[in-house]
Amino acid sequence: MENLRIPGPTPCPPEVLQAMARQMVNHRGVEFIGILNEVTDKLKQLFQTRNDVFLLTASGTGGLEAAIVNTLSPGDKVLSVSNGVFGERFATIAQRFGAEVIPLRFEWGKAAEAEAIRPALRANPEIKAVLVTHNETSTGVTNDLAAISSVVKEFDKLLLVDAISSLGSINLPVDEWRCDVAVSGSQKGWMVPPGLAMVSVSQAAWQAQAKARMPRFYWDFTQARNYLERGQTPWTPAVSIVFALSVSLEMLLKEGLANIIARHARVARAAREGVKSLGLSLFAEENYASNTVTAVSSSNGLDSKKLLRILEEKHHMILGEGQQKLDGKIFRIGHLGWVTVADIKTVISALKTALPQAGFTGS
Ligand SMILES: *Cc1c(COP(=O)(O)O)cnc(C)c1O
Repeated sequence: MENLRIPGPTPCPPEVLQAMARQMVNHRGVEFIGILNEVTDKLKQLFQTRNDVFLLTASGTGGLEAAIVNTLSPGDKVLSVSNGVFGERFATIAQRFGAEVIPLRFEWGKAAEAEAIRPALRANPEIKAVLVTHNETSTGVTNDLAAISSVVKEFDKLLLVDAISSLGSINLPVDEWRCDVAVSGSQKGWMVPPGLAMVSVSQAAWQAQAKARMPRFYWDFTQARNYLERGQTPWTPAVSIVFALSVSLEMLLKEGLANIIARHARVARAAREGVKSLGLSLFAEENYASNTVTAVSSSNGLDSKKLLRILEEKHHMILGEGQQKLDGKIFRIGHLGWVTVADIKTVISALKTALPQAGFTGS
């Protein structure tokens, strides 16, 4: 079996995979209604929210699009706080649907600065919403969402959060940090295959939704709410992934959110200390280094593409490449979901063997 250590899709426990082997049921029948209600309840616990939570049949990006089209109208100004590939994607979606995007960009590998958001919001009082990526998977940086939120809420703006690779793995109390829409995706920390996005929707987001005029059909939160009142989704959901999620959420809640968060912190520490012990350096500003993905710079002669090829061929281990302008400049170790410190130690020992074969000359 391959050792899959990319930041999604992540490996799934056998019980979760088995849950998907079962026969189809009526997605509007009593049994599935029970499962959907239970899954929704459990997700609310892990989102630390009393807001509405919906399952959408989509990858994470569908959830981001849903956040935009349900809260905004063409011509609305939005502030895009971005420090990587996924921050740029969120902004592009808003722009594509006609929002006027005001970019606030930070160097890739660095964290977004909450204090820089204040002058941007002061200069543009018409800004309606702020787009933020909690955990920028492309660079391995976790932004200080609590600090960002308090600035955004000083100005009473909507806070739309890409939490795709943080929710369920890194602490993100959605209500305490006043996230109006928070989005996650099943194939990240949730230990299930791709196919479902999860979104939470606040009261303020509902108020915005009532006035928002961007075109929407499949993603319409009103439809999602009306159907969920009857324990259903408006459109046929990815039934098998819901079965899987039902099992994984039970496992996650049994472990407990505090323990899950602590485990990800331990695993990430093992990853960071491990790569540094090999003479490699972290790409991310260390104070903001992510607990779900570690980005490593290709330094000292290292050909990271060759490294990933050797790891795959000789060690059956798959790590992540750098994306877009980071292609060839970094590689990434995904450590979210079903992962232990022992899994990371295996990665570090494979790296130790493979690094010299990929040109790395040490520090
Ligand atoms: C994975 C990821 C996405 C994209 O999700 P898809 O499921 O591929 O659509 C968006 N944002 C972040 C932060 C991610 O980690």
